[in-house]
Amino acid sequence: MPALATITDVEDDNAHRIIIIGAGIVGCALASNLAASGEKDVLLIDRSFRDLLGSTGHAPGFVGQYNDSLFLSQLAKWSVEEYMSIPGAFQVVGGLELATTPVAAASLANRYKLAREAGIPAELVSCEKAVSMAPDLIKHEGLKSALFFQSDGTADAKVVTAYFRRIAEGHGARLLEADVQGLERCDEVIHKLQTSRGVIQTASSQVIFATGVWTKSILSEISGTEPFPVIPVAHPYGFTPRRDRRTGQPYPFVRWPEYHVYARDHGDRDGMGSYDHKPVWEEPGESAIGSWGPEFASVLAVASEKCLKNAQEFVTVERNPDAEQFNGIFSVTPDNLPLAGKVQNVENMWLCTAVWVTHAAGTAKLISKRMLGVELTAAEAAVSRALDPNRFAGMEFQILAQQALGRYNDIYNSQALEL
Ligand SMILES: Cc1cc2nc3c(=O)[nH]c(=O)nc-3n(C[C@H](O)[C@H](O)[C@H](O)COP(=O)(O)OP(=O)(O)OC[C@H]3O[C@@H](n4cnc5c(N)ncnc54)[C@H](O)[C@@H]3O)c2cc1C
Repeated sequence: MPALATITDVEDDNAHRIIIIGAGIVGCALASNLAASGEKDVLLIDRSFRDLLGSTGHAPGFVGQYNDSLFLSQLAKWSVEEYMSIPGAFQVVGGLELATTPVAAASLANRYKLAREAGIPAELVSCEKAVSMAPDLIKHEGLKSALFFQSDGTADAKVVTAYFRRIAEGHGARLLEADVQGLERCDEVIHKLQTSRGVIQTASSQVIFATGVWTKSILSEISGTEPFPVIPVAHPYGFTPRRDRRTGQPYPFVRWPEYHVYARDHGDRDGMGSYDHKPVWEEPGESAIGSWGPEFASVLAVASEKCLKNAQEFVTVERNPDAEQFNGIFSVTPDNLPLAGKVQNVENMWLCTAVWVTHAAGTAKLISKRMLGVELTAAEAAVSRALDPNRFAGMEFQILAQQALGRYNDIYNSQALEL
């Protein structure tokens, strides 16, 4: 457990201070960059520093670098560079995509071409080779083609987050365990944060929200800001029962884009998730684990039956109490891009939200540079513009929310919408 500050340590304001609300992978990465710069006093606030209550604590951590949005590909590449330097954080197991219809095979061929153009290693492999890479997972019957991304892998989000937090603490960042319950905005400035431990003065500080799936609810506190379309959605994920650890080459992460299904080898068990259901908007409670209903069990059962050789191992919890299934909540946005940057009309307010593990380190580094006033390269400036949290200004929130929900099923593939 880290050393925690008291409210008296942190209640006073100062012009060098940056307050980060949220200590998931994004908040901790921001804290690490900003504290390590030596230019800012960093205060990191979260409800819990013991357990990761947010999405970070539940992500299976697939990091696929190719995305039809070149901004997301770039952020993923920057993030992987960082994860590779963190001990125990990133395993280059590769990412395998499979197709069972001619249309899906054509889509893989197109992704292959575009990935190569984007400078991301990719290879079309035979179906036999694909099956041999994950023989317990992949059904051979009906396979038409396979695309392998050699440099993709899995990030252990908990290891990454703990690492960033240690770096931040090592550079003097203070950690306050408190629930931010309200904000006081006066004119164009956030003056105060009301927390479960007391009030923190903020008029001279910069405040950044790295609050993940809670962003929409906390920002509804701030009158006069645009509604930011960061919509929390439910997502079912399930495991097989535990077994002896597989030996030999680790399996790649496997995806069946046409079925919106993915699976991974967790070492002593396998896991799978499915996007093949109607999107469910679910506001989180204390944690990013939502409610589980029989409809999710059947989503996983149908998905595993379609794609997985070991489908019978992904049985319902009722039939096998050793298996585990849960509904993890994460954020979607109307164009699949994070909302990250300075908020217009509020002088001291920033957002860094709707960021995947895949893009977290890269996004946090970019936003830290902006907060420190460091000049951006042309590539960084282009990505930064694309993530501008004000890009939906003036649009109807309910329409944006529906667009965001509509992105859920194609989360890995879809091109960022031009809005
Ligand atoms: C089931 C599942 C599967 C996923 N699969 C993948 C994957 O394969 N690859 C991938 O890249 N991503 C995946 N994701 C998405 C990824 O986990 C998230 O996008 C990422 O972890 C978000 O990080 P974050 O730091 O922004 O948010 P979080 O981890 O949610 O952190 C937000 C923090 O803010 C704190 N907080 C919020 N409000 C307050 C408040 N008012 N006061 C104090 N503290 C507050 C919370 O306690 C929390 O710690 C998955 C997510 C889930 C749930």
